[in-house]
Amino acid sequence: MLISSNKIVFRRITKLGRRLFHCSAVSMADLSRVKPVVAVVQMTSTPDKEATFAQLSALVTRAKSRGAAMTFVPECADYVSESRDQAVALAEPLDGPTVSRYRDLARTLGMWLSVGGYHEKPQASSKETNRIYNTHLLIDAEGTIQGVYRKIHMFDVDVPGGVPCYESSYTIPGSSIVPPVATVCGKVGMAICYDMRFPEMAVSLAQQGAEVLTFPSAFTVPTGMAHWETLLRNRAIENQCYVVAAAQVGRHHAKRSSYGNAMVVDPWGTVIAKCHDTIDICIAEIDLPLLHKRRTEMPVFSHKRHDIYGHVLNNTVLPVDSQSEYQFGPHVVKSTSTFYLTALSVAFVNRKPVVPGHVLVCPVRVVEHLVDLTAAETADLFLAVQSVAEVTKKHYRVSSLTVAVQDGPDAGQTVKHVHVHVLPRKPGDFPDNDDVYKHLEKHDKNVAPTEWRTDGDMAKEAAVMRTYFNTQ
Ligand code: AMP
Repeated sequence: MLISSNKIVFRRITKLGRRLFHCSAVSMADLSRVKPVVAVVQMTSTPDKEATFAQLSALVTRAKSRGAAMTFVPECADYVSESRDQAVALAEPLDGPTVSRYRDLARTLGMWLSVGGYHEKPQASSKETNRIYNTHLLIDAEGTIQGVYRKIHMFDVDVPGGVPCYESSYTIPGSSIVPPVATVCGKVGMAICYDMRFPEMAVSLAQQGAEVLTFPSAFTVPTGMAHWETLLRNRAIENQCYVVAAAQVGRHHAKRSSYGNAMVVDPWGTVIAKCHDTIDICIAEIDLPLLHKRRTEMPVFSHKRHDIYGHVLNNTVLPVDSQSEYQFGPHVVKSTSTFYLTALSVAFVNRKPVVPGHVLVCPVRVVEHLVDLTAAETADLFLAVQSVAEVTKKHYRVSSLTVAVQDGPDAGQTVKHVHVHVLPRKPGDFPDNDDVYKHLEKHDKNVAPTEWRTDGDMAKEAAVMRTYFNTQ
């Protein structure tokens, strides 16, 4: 989730916002006719932040003069440190001076920027004082931050011919995949470097609508020689996406060098632009009509056999958009009553709870029976129930829960939308433990509207629950 702070307005990416923004992005450049030009930067960052920014700025300005609508800058765009301690000491927060410079550059040039990985210092309130994030930013042509992704896979490796690296010793792993962001060159899925070795992440982004996958990198020389181009071309072919990979190149300091070979790969797997072994840029056109033609000609995503090998799930917890409402059978549940949301499942507080903390989890899609859910919805629903159960136990300080699905009217289901009741249980809360089912049968039948809880009361409970999921 993006934040507003110190007069800096970061656009909060909400479901509604994304939809609206998608429309404005399309009107910015009609992507069915225009083929936007993207530029990919290959640079050599050093521990000197000033010199590194000067290099980045000159390359991005050159990209503008070659007609780029969006420029992709590699991982370590701000510096490459000589030690773990230096990496942490030089880091800045999202509202620090280096990000301000990137935003000014984007605004001045009127160009979108993907800043592939900068060293982000966590907020002062964070418990982490000795580690930072590896953060990829998307900045629009007005200088507004449109996407923030924190790298989820840590490069903790010791490969022959390379220097051992334990990224997690100074980097906090991110906790979510960010839904693709609508940009001037299509829907961009954000990743960083080592993420390219995890095809599930690229599949998740493609399933969420990505047209361009980005792997800004600082690849080591031995792994680059062995795997770089093969991995990038694979991700492009299997997801039928453009792959844009900005790269660090050459010697950063006495102990570290990078492989280079920044490139753009088209959805057919062809390398359509490439830098070699010097500081440089390369440019390519993004042809989205061609991408969609390829997907129609060979519809691999609709040929997948999820029934045999399962799904790549995207159970990233999303911010609850204050403008949204969710359908619960025939009822409308307000966002203020909602405290947990993924692309497929939603959880909200109960307007007539059997016990305090009795909440409901259901699929976002209105589906009557458990058997009507897709495999992805089923898995996501039960993962949602598990997360809600964990928080409920913690918040109500209980060791037991009743978790119940009533599938169909003969089982007591009154709302025709499959849902899971989660109820915290305390010793002696009913004369017999299973009396809870008698109460579940009766508690919402023949209830006068005055007996429902008020919206304000429900909003208070949901707000407390949201704090556990960071979905405020
Ligand atoms: P069932 O009788 O098993 O279908 O359960 C329906 C549950 O949904 C009951 O616990 C109701 O109190 C609850 N409920 C019904 N409508 C709403 C609503 N609009 N918002 C929150 N909870 C609701």
